[in-house]
Parts: sequence; structure tokens; C-alpha cells
Amino acid sequence: MKPMGSIPAGYAARDGELLVGGRPVSDLIAQAGDTPLFVYDRAMMAARVARLRAALPAEVAIHYAMKANPHPDVVATFAGLVDGLDVASAGEMAVALASGMAAADISFAGPGKRDRELEAAIAAGVTINLESAAEGRRALAAGAKLGIRPKLAVRVNPDFEIRGSGMRMGGGAKPFGVDEVHAAALCRDMIAAGADWRGFHIFAGSQALDAAAIIEAQAATVTLAARLADEVGAAPPLVNLGGGLGIPYFPGEVPLDVDAVGHALNAALAARPASLRDSAFAIELGRWLVGETGVYLTRVIDRKESHGEIFLVTDGGLHHQLAASGNFGTVVRRNYPVAIANRFGAEAAETASVVGCLCTPLDRLADKVALPRGDVGDVIAVFMAGAYGASASPQAFLGHAPALEMLVG
Ligand SMILES: *Cc1c(COP(=O)(O)O)cnc(C)c1O
Repeated sequence: MKPMGSIPAGYAARDGELLVGGRPVSDLIAQAGDTPLFVYDRAMMAARVARLRAALPAEVAIHYAMKANPHPDVVATFAGLVDGLDVASAGEMAVALASGMAAADISFAGPGKRDRELEAAIAAGVTINLESAAEGRRALAAGAKLGIRPKLAVRVNPDFEIRGSGMRMGGGAKPFGVDEVHAAALCRDMIAAGADWRGFHIFAGSQALDAAAIIEAQAATVTLAARLADEVGAAPPLVNLGGGLGIPYFPGEVPLDVDAVGHALNAALAARPASLRDSAFAIELGRWLVGETGVYLTRVIDRKESHGEIFLVTDGGLHHQLAASGNFGTVVRRNYPVAIANRFGAEAAETASVVGCLCTPLDRLADKVALPRGDVGDVIAVFMAGAYGASASPQAFLGHAPALEMLVG
């Protein structure tokens, strides 16, 4: 038997059946028409934002990083809850603009933006977080072509990164952002060329559960922004402090102490150098806001035994929920929290592996976990499915239908 992660707080059952958004999963599946199905809970999203606002200093804006879950209804929900949206493609930008969020509160980061993407952003009034000096020149040219003054911020590749960060996106050689040493010069060039300079975007890592590591990185980010502001000789209108707040997917992981993070950030901002006195601040989060609010529901199609091991074969798999299979940026495969949704809370009775319907040994949603007995027709719930699920999985692989998605609450 292998351990699995903890089911996030807030999930309950009625008559032994898992509820999502207060409704039994059989109801949700009947409404959607089929499995596999992702269900996202709006009330949980609102609760996450409220929880974070209570922890963070009031002056820190909360942005939703859309790549975690770009479903238009999810984005529209966050548009009504947060202060800004961060997008990473023209496709995401179109969804963000349709969500009701003002263009002035949308920013566009990401390497390899094409000229037509830069033009679309400038035409819409979206801020472009520049990933290189060459991109800056192309953005200026796009603005000149359109006769619109582009809103440009500079994404800085910091020399540090969040310690123990689950995904390395800052520190050392990176395709993201402009190295610290060149960042101020690029800002000065953009200002001199007449751009509407919006400030800095400094992203130092992702999926960190250690509050001390995030606190250290945020303090270093404020210090770096102040030093760069001095070098630019102008106050950045906005300092995007990045994100990196993680969620507990795996056995032994515990939720991040966001109160400690908020407390320390409050102190860091209160003590900030004069060069940042008039700047606004934001953080941008994906998974922390949405990851726990989604459940992936997949039905058991077959139950079989091989060499003494039990396999529950489902109609879902890694083509919808790649991360749970351990093939999305993890080195060692560990188990996400799973449950038999129609026997929720029942005692474990056997050790079983939950596999998908793809013809590859990689397609394993849970490896040798303790579950109540699972039979054909049962519904498996895979938790932590709100972020990097449907949109981050190879849905075309093997030609199965895409997963259904719905919002509740
Ligand atoms: C991916 C990404 C995010 C979101 O990361 P999470 O770990 O989901 O919070 C935020 N900002 C940038 C620049 C990103 O690339």
C-alpha cells in the first residue's frame, strides 16, 4: 500500500456520497450527461479569495494567473472576485477580455509572443510584460503601426528563486524575463521611446509550501524592485511580486501558512525604500486560488486482477488529468488524493490501483492505495483537479473524447 495526499478541507458527503457545491456527484454527472467530468466549485473559489484577502495587506492586489484553469466560466468567476488577470497567450487574453475584467487590469506575460499577439494586446489596452529587449522593440513597432502608446512592463529574471519551489522559473539562465543586470536599461529604453511604462513583473517560482521560503523571496523581490527603480530613475507604477503559493497534493504535505506570508509582506512593504513609496503591488496566483476547488470524476469500467494486484480501470486518465498520473513536472510519482465518490468516508477494504483507459503504463491515477472495495459503475473522485487539469493534459492522445467541465455553486 502507498500513501496518498489528503483530501482538501471543505468536501463533505451525504448518505455516503461525495458532495461538490452541495450536490451529490451522481446528480452532477446526470446533469452533465457523462463521465469523465471536471466539476469546479464557485463558492470555494470565493472562499479562497476571501481567505487570501484576509491574510494579505490591503494594498496588495490579487491577480488570477489564467493558465491554471482557463475555462471561460472559471475566468469570469475570478474576474468578479480578484483585481486583475494574468494571461500567457492571445487565446487566454481573448477569454480574459470577455470575462468582464477591464483591459487595464489584464497583463500578458510569456516568451515567444508573436507580432500579432503584441498588436492584439496593444489594441485592447492590455499591459505586456516584456520577456526580452527584442520583444520590447517589436512591441514599440506594433504600437507605432497601430498609433497606440503601448503599456509595457518588464519581466525581470531575478538572480534568486523561491527555495524548494516545485517548478523553477527564476534564478540563473532562463527563457523567462530579462536578467536583473539588463532590466533597468530596458525600462529606460521603453520610457525614452514613449511607451507607457507600467513597472516590473518579478516571478521567482511556483508551488512552494514553505512560508519562510516565500517570505524570503518576497522580501528579496521588494529589495530588487527598489534597486531597479533607482537604476531606472522612475517609480514603477506597479510591482508584480509574482506568486508561488503552493497547495498540498501529496502525502505528508500541509497547507501553506498564508497568514505568516501576509504578515511578513505587510512588514516588508511598510519598510520599503522611498523609491517604491507610490508604487502599487500585486501577486499573481493560479493553483492556490483554483486547484482545490475542482474534482475530476471518472467511472470504473472494469475491475480486474493481475498477479495478485487489483486494478480499477476507469473511463478517464492522464489525457484529462496528466498531473495526477505523475507526468506533469514531477520527478517521483506520488499519489494525489482520490476516493470512491459513492462510498465517500467508507472504511478502506483493499489495496487497488486506479488506472485510466489509455494503452500506456503511464496512465495511472492512483498507485496501490487503500480504498473501499471498488466495483464497475463506481465513480472515482480525483481531488486537486481545479488547476492544470483539462487544459494541461494531452486530450487528443489516443482519440478519446475530451472531459466534460461544469461549474457549481
Ligand atoms: C504559471 C505562472 C503562474 C501561476 O503559477 P501557479 O503555480 O499556478 O500559481 C503565475 N505567473 C506566471 C508568470 C506563471 O508562469
